[in-house]
Amino acid sequence: MVRIGLAMLQGARHEHIEALHGAAMELGLSVEVVELRRGDQVDHDLAALVLPGGESTAMRKASESEALLPAIYAWMDEHQTRPVLGTCAGAILLASPDGDRTPYIAASIARNAWGRQRQSFEAEVDVNLPVPEAHTEGQHNADVDRFNHRPLPVSQTAPSLDSSRYPGVFIRAPRFETSGVQCETVARLDEEPVGVLDGKRLALTFHPELTTDRRFHRWLLAEADRIGSEEP
Ligand code: GLN
Repeated sequence: MVRIGLAMLQGARHEHIEALHGAAMELGLSVEVVELRRGDQVDHDLAALVLPGGESTAMRKASESEALLPAIYAWMDEHQTRPVLGTCAGAILLASPDGDRTPYIAASIARNAWGRQRQSFEAEVDVNLPVPEAHTEGQHNADVDRFNHRPLPVSQTAPSLDSSRYPGVFIRAPRFETSGVQCETVARLDEEPVGVLDGKRLALTFHPELTTDRRFHRWLLAEADRIGSEEP
């Protein structure tokens, strides 16, 4: 059983829960998604974390009462080799953490930097990240969940046969500053970095939880599963 912590700060959370369960099914792993709302829930048994997209300013504010973000940053300081997936606003929280913390991804990022017409768009992205293949097809559950929340319609774009292509959904996305990327680029839009990997921290400026191609969630689960077998 792989335990994954999901920051329930604000924004696109339920879609990540679906994507994690779907990816676990594709890999034949069992997963427990721990919904993190308070700092004291961020425990040492979590094998990985997901920081979803949304509005990073609202996330920082939402965190204040329950001290969730400081606990997440403390967890990352303590567990440097455990995988973390930050999408969109989550990528902003990794690249520009609060206060005088050192960035968790060596890449500078600018919020809402696509300009007005292109604030939200879909575009094919080139991915270069080794990911375990899906054994079986995961299901997508579009029913209302226990919060009476219906997940956003997921783009049904079939994963293209060329496995380096990925359907990127960009929603008022931030932009990495190309000259400020000091770690590995694993996803590009044309030549521009839109996904970077620093150690085991993966920051994407698009929303992988809004497509049925769950390779980034499979990456996280596979890395988390490996940690479980390697750490004492
Ligand atoms: N514009 C948001 C921010 O600056 C990020 C958007 C997103 O997560 N889709 O925090």
